[in-house]
Amino acid sequence: MTIARIEPFILHVPVTGSSISDSTHTLSHWGVVGCRIHTHDGFTGTGFTGTHADIEGDRLIARCIERSCAPLLDNEDEDDIARLWLKIARHPPLQWIGRAGITHLALAAIDIALWDLKAQRAGQPLWRLLGGATRPVVTAYNTDIGWLSISDEDLAAGARRAVQEEGFRGVKIKIGSPDLARDLRRLAAVRKAIGPGVMMATDVNGRWDLPTALRFTREAAGLDVFWIEEPLWYDDLAGHEALARASSVPVALGEQLYTAEAFAEFIRRGALHFVQPDVTRLAGITEYIRVAEAAHAARLPVVAHAGDMGQVHAHLSHWHPATTLFEYIPWIRACFEDPVTVVDGNLKRPEWPGAGTAIRAEAFERYARPLG
Ligand code: MG
Repeated sequence: MTIARIEPFILHVPVTGSSISDSTHTLSHWGVVGCRIHTHDGFTGTGFTGTHADIEGDRLIARCIERSCAPLLDNEDEDDIARLWLKIARHPPLQWIGRAGITHLALAAIDIALWDLKAQRAGQPLWRLLGGATRPVVTAYNTDIGWLSISDEDLAAGARRAVQEEGFRGVKIKIGSPDLARDLRRLAAVRKAIGPGVMMATDVNGRWDLPTALRFTREAAGLDVFWIEEPLWYDDLAGHEALARASSVPVALGEQLYTAEAFAEFIRRGALHFVQPDVTRLAGITEYIRVAEAAHAARLPVVAHAGDMGQVHAHLSHWHPATTLFEYIPWIRACFEDPVTVVDGNLKRPEWPGAGTAIRAEAFERYARPLG
């Protein structure tokens, strides 16, 4: 069938508490910016990217979808996802102004909506359409208890609650504060609270230089840190390569990489141990699959970054054999018809047909912002 109409949207959904911070970002809302693609025979697919809910930036993405991408899809067969992906990604005027950034985030939303349509038309959840689930359970870890803005006392208590009361077998703690000794004290308190054997990852959000990262890996030696995420500036290939070779703590990254080519170079150079692609920053599910396959060929584990807050990644994590863990942040789950759900520390397998992106009417009423 063919595409009739593309309808962009912007939602701003509050985060847990009044705001959260890591070493680099502070935000009060998560931006869900994307589109609904309507077909001539009455299907609707939904796709979105994730932002820090800056309305002017979100309007640029929505405008790119509406004015630059949508005309390229008019009356196209929505089933030809690979061809349509190339049509937009290689469209000379779009390619000229951005092979990353706004144009890529817009294409991500469109690609996800097309996969949602394909899975709906097949009457299957996305993971089944792609080839079926490859493992009985996917273990989730909790990031929402570990923000740098959480006080020292509340951090350890929240981690203990997530593990002992909610059943998570892993947590991630944000570090990269101006005081490395404080980071280490907070990690020690969390380790003491959750006990040995529970996964405790860390995330620097690109804040450090190589000497600081090397010092951390030495001084954190007794804390059983599962990985150190984005220790250096996102594009610092040589720095991550040097760290990955020297560190006893595995290196994880990928949430800020826009292309399969960027991932390929980090993988080829041995600059990471955990691969963290994100459908909302890569150009959608189409490019995520390329990255996951490249990681798998290199025998590296894949753990998706929660730019979609897990709605699409829940499907991809149950499907792709390289996946080992699932990142859980619950901010926007109430927006969805089939929200991400974790039970006893494991990710529930989605059962609705589609890619997990169908948004409830109440969420539009409550969180939609004007397109400008
Ligand atoms: Mg991160």
